[in-house]
Amino acid sequence: MTDDNKIVIRERSTPSKLRYASQKLIEMHDQLIDRGVDKQRATLIGIALHLESMAQAAESSAGPNLTPGFVNEPGSTSELLPAEILAAIDVPPYLSTACDTALRVEPADVPDATGWARLLHARCRLNNKFTGAPCPCTCHGREA
Ligand SMILES: [Zn+2]
Ligand SMILES: [Zn+2]
Repeated sequence: MTDDNKIVIRERSTPSKLRYASQKLIEMHDQLIDRGVDKQRATLIGIALHLESMAQAAESSAGPNLTPGFVNEPGSTSELLPAEILAAIDVPPYLSTACDTALRVEPADVPDATGWARLLHARCRLNNKFTGAPCPCTCHGREA
């Protein structure tokens, strides 16, 4: 690696900048494949993976949405599959991760298990975001 290939990462880099830098390192790595510099190549891959994990960490602390570009508030249909796909597949019963976790927390021997469970039930997104299948948890006051 020569000095004019320098990549500067500032502390407040956004995930997309980190991913760009990571991609550049992987390109450098690929250019070195036939040169017999295994140690330097391993270092490049190591740094690239580190930048990728920094990007993921930055995204996960950015907000409650797991998929960048999508807003998944309860009942949101932004990621619902098209009707022809839904008609062609079996949709299994869906218990949301929030309510599933709540039902496990409720009987746990921990301080304020009921309070934690109530918080989790309140975080349920009500429908499977891809299939629209409703969460049958009794906390929603519907028939199971
Ligand atoms: Zn529930
Ligand atoms: Zn639920």
